[in-house]
Amino acid sequence: MTNEETLHLFQEAEALLKGHFLLSSGRHSDQYLEKFRLVENPKLLEPICESLAERFRNDNIEAVLGPTTAGIILAYVYARILGVQGRYAESEGGVRKLRRGQTLYPGTRILIVDDILTTGGAVRECIDLAKQYQAEVAGIAVLADRTAGGTDFGYRLESALSIQVESWDPGECPLCKRNIPMTQPGSKNLNR
Ligand SMILES: [Zn+2]
Repeated sequence: MTNEETLHLFQEAEALLKGHFLLSSGRHSDQYLEKFRLVENPKLLEPICESLAERFRNDNIEAVLGPTTAGIILAYVYARILGVQGRYAESEGGVRKLRRGQTLYPGTRILIVDDILTTGGAVRECIDLAKQYQAEVAGIAVLADRTAGGTDFGYRLESALSIQVESWDPGECPLCKRNIPMTQPGSKNLNR
């Protein structure tokens, strides 16, 4: 599946929003990726996961690890596709951990999966978690890389969609200058 084909699936899912957004970083943007439009839609999500899983087909993946929230759904989907087990990293005391008796055995080759790569914080927590259990990180798969290849975890990284989302400091935002109402994704419209 090409970048262009993945982009079409994101658009079909209405996961690629256009408007005037306040990002969690405090910057403004005219685009926003709402991963849940895709994660809630198996018909559109699964072909993307299958295409990414295929890239790791010969890497002897033995388990898939994903962080809360959407990463848990993704870990299950990839685990099913690859015929291995899923592990779910849940927040506990502000850090993602394996809970509910889950474990990873030393040397287990794992694939870390997540939705949208922005700062990479959740992926790094999963890498740390793998190290704690002495598991071996075989690679990382994300649905979309908003840094367009600009992130280096020190492990192989595969993304289905590589996209550069432009953002501005509030003072520099061209949409603010045009008085276009702003929304904060995941929250109510700020102008209402
Ligand atoms: Zn703005």
